Amino acid sequence: MNVHEYQAKELLAKFGVNIPAGIPALTVEEAVEAAKQLPGPVYVVKAQIHAGGRGKGKFKELPADAKGGVRLAKTIGEVETHAREMLGNTLVTVQTGEAGKQVNRLYVTDGVDIAKEYYLSLVVDRGTGRVALIVSTEGGMDIEEVAHSTPEKITTIVIDPAQGFMPHHGRAVAFALKLSGFLNKQAQQLAKSLYEAFVSLDCAMLEINPLVETRDGQLLVLDAKLSFDSNALYRHPEEVVLRDETEEDPAEIEASKYDLAYIKLDGNIGCMVNGAGLAMATMDIIKLNGEFPANFLDVGGGATKEKVTAAFKIILKDPAVKGILVNIFGGIMKCDIIAEGIVAAAKEVNLSVPLVVRLEGTNVEKGKEILTHSGLPIVPANDLGDAAKKIVAEVQKVA
Ligand code: GDP
Ligand code: MG
Repeated sequence: MNVHEYQAKELLAKFGVNIPAGIPALTVEEAVEAAKQLPGPVYVVKAQIHAGGRGKGKFKELPADAKGGVRLAKTIGEVETHAREMLGNTLVTVQTGEAGKQVNRLYVTDGVDIAKEYYLSLVVDRGTGRVALIVSTEGGMDIEEVAHSTPEKITTIVIDPAQGFMPHHGRAVAFALKLSGFLNKQAQQLAKSLYEAFVSLDCAMLEINPLVETRDGQLLVLDAKLSFDSNALYRHPEEVVLRDETEEDPAEIEASKYDLAYIKLDGNIGCMVNGAGLAMATMDIIKLNGEFPANFLDVGGGATKEKVTAAFKIILKDPAVKGILVNIFGGIMKCDIIAEGIVAAAKEVNLSVPLVVRLEGTNVEKGKEILTHSGLPIVPANDLGDAAKKIVAEVQKVA
């Protein structure tokens, strides 16, 4: 689960992290009120969307030379103009894709006089199974680009969870950022606070880009991107409420209500599969046969009729879907129960696209019989390869 910049910063502030003063706003009036409460004389109006690259982003509805989603304002009047131009409009950045994201919230912050920008992030490093601090003197820019062209400018510091954050980790961060004196001390303290926040909040990722040194020698978190490990959200009822569903794919939200693992993709073959490994194999074999999957969908081991019906509905809501491939292995679930679920669901949703079903496992014969006698135009398949060929042929027939 991702949260907005202002939410991430408010969380970090509780761990003693220094952030510029700021107030979120949902309307132009609120943005003006927010600015009035800040010291000024410079303000920053920041679009709150779950994507980075806002500063360099473009608004679809505005002329090409209009400013992006992070704007400096020197007067309250300018704050108002920026807020009016941003709210309700669609911001396209390198991370949103072409469709962009509608800006529904703003964050009005105190303008900071920046001397230098740095990069600092924490992630769970799957290679070492530990939390890693990634630090670079090259802040404010695309870190992937830095990693590609000047990898020597990135330092990775891995922390042993049994030991926790030690003073030498802090010194290593400050050293990598080439900081001395009071800035060096601040960097050590900041790294410690960020690590504490990361662990206590069960984060999956925490990225500060940029971390800035101000002209008066302060180290400030200017931008923050934080995502929670969804598997640990049950431990964080206070943070779950920060979820902004307008930032998420509606089909994915619907799927999560039924405990279905669904990810929307760009192809035209809807997939309904049990087990993540089988789902990935199914997507691969569709591609191998020349078409693309419209989604990843794992209905899980204990798929009920209700779950299967919900899954069908979600797949069919996608106008790009020209055919559905059901690929289920009846292990814990029996194939006849699954077949009954598929038939009931197909009838309920008035299935309008070709449906290829491959069943394997316990009671497979009974399951196939149910499908054959259902009266529905279901195309049965014998194995994974056969199923992929058949659904690709069906879809290409339609096209
Ligand atoms: P992003 O584009 O989504 O990553 O948004 P950021 O919050 O990182 O802002 C983008 C850039 O805007 C930063 O790298 C800064 O260069 C600039 N910026 C943001 N806030 C301020 C500020 O308070 N003062 C100044 N001078 N520049 C800022
Ligand atoms: Mg940034």
